[in-house]
Order: sequence, then structure tokens, then C-alpha cells
Amino acid sequence: MENKKSNEDSIKNAIKKRIKEKIKKELLEEIYNELKLEENELAEEISSIISKKEKSSAADLINEIKAEQPIFEKLEDDKTVSISVKAILKIASHALKYASSKISRDKWVEVIGLLAGKQYDYGPKLHIEDAYPMGHGSAVYAEIKDYKNFVRAFNDIKAKNLFICGWYHSHPSYGTWMSDEDIGTQARYQKLWDNAIALVIDPYQIDGTSLGFQIFRANLKNKKWFSIPFSVEGSLDVKSLPEILEFMDPIIEGKAAYLEYDED
Ligand SMILES: [Zn+2]
Repeated sequence: MENKKSNEDSIKNAIKKRIKEKIKKELLEEIYNELKLEENELAEEISSIISKKEKSSAADLINEIKAEQPIFEKLEDDKTVSISVKAILKIASHALKYASSKISRDKWVEVIGLLAGKQYDYGPKLHIEDAYPMGHGSAVYAEIKDYKNFVRAFNDIKAKNLFICGWYHSHPSYGTWMSDEDIGTQARYQKLWDNAIALVIDPYQIDGTSLGFQIFRANLKNKKWFSIPFSVEGSLDVKSLPEILEFMDPIIEGKAAYLEYDED
């Protein structure tokens, strides 16, 4: 028994070491801080900001967002999109924070956030570099209360020479697809930028065989949605994703002490 236990421990330590090499402390801190900032934000925000043009401050913001969008040829639907490991980990952590086995199922809610991208002249035409957790909740169309988090993200995205290339949200345990409401939200993003994409994640599909998300765009004329192929930039083995997320669990739960993990 002793032997088995120490054997298990050494396997665990080896896994931990391997994951640590991959995920830097800075990224864990960033995820921790952004999830903290998002805690008070309800999911209504983003779609409300984009729909409520009558609110002049929101309208100014929309104009500013529009002005920041790059002008480039319309992406062909079959052109690939790439996504960073960082964005994947942020989105998955955010989704799991509000729908995990530690929360009773009737309390699970969806999360919503922004995707920050950059354009390539070659290879995948659009690269999703980062993701910004914006809110969580079950109603998508409520009043806008406070959007300082949105403005903060927008300014940060601009400062990093990225632009808002779409949005993400979660479907905890009910698959990756676009509802009618989702197509409505997506339409607003595509009006901001033609090539805007929607990433839908179901964290319960992250099982070692799937990344648990798909990327979509919609045909606004017939209201049909379709998935867009993508590749992952950086090294991320689908098989190890559940392990990595499990390792990040304390961060997802909001335990700052865990950030000391490097000092061993
Ligand atoms: Zn949805």
C-alpha cells in the first residue's frame, strides 16, 4: 500500500511539474484576477451594451469599438481560425467557475465574455489571442447596470494591439450550438465587424477527447449558423486538458493562496 501511495504521488508530482512548465504563474494570476473582477458582473452586460444604442455613453463606446476593427477582406467561411492556449484556458476556467461538480446543478449559469484577436496575412487569417470574462447569469436581455469591466477590457485589448473579434459563452452540459438568442447576439457582433465569431463552450465535453467548444458564425440573411474550423496555436494536448483544468481548480474556485504554488 505504502508503495502504491508513493507511486501515485510521484506520478501526480510528475504531472504537476509538466503542467507547471506549460502554464506560467503569470497566466494563473491573470485568470485569477479577471475571474475576481467578473464576480459582480451579470451576464446582461455585453449584449445590452451592444443593443442599447439609445444610451449615449454606450453608443460612444460602440463607435469606438467599430473604429478599432481592422478593415480586411471578408474571411471565407472555410478559412481557418486559430486560438491560443491562453484563451482556451481562460474560457474553460470561466465556464467551470459557474458550473462545476462543486455547485449544485440547479445553480449552474452561463458565462459570457469577449474574444480579442489579431489578423495574420498568412495561414490562419484570424487568431484569437485572448479572452475576457465579462459576466455570468441566466438572463441575457436585462438592464445594463454597470459596464466598467467592459470598458476596462476594451482599453486593455486596444493597448495590446488586439481588437474585439467576437464573443464567447457557455452551455454547461447542453452542447455547443447556437440558440435563436445567440444568433441575435451574434448578429450584433457581426454588425460591429463582419467576420465576428461566436465561441460556444460546454465544459462538460472536455473529457480528454474534445476541447469542449466550437466556433460559429451566422448568415444574417437566413439566420442560419455554421461552425468554423480552427486550430490551436501552441502546445496543448486535448488529452491533457482535463488534467490541466483540474490542476487549476483552486484558481477557478478563487483561492488566491494557491498562487504561491511556484514556491516549492
Ligand atoms: Zn447560448
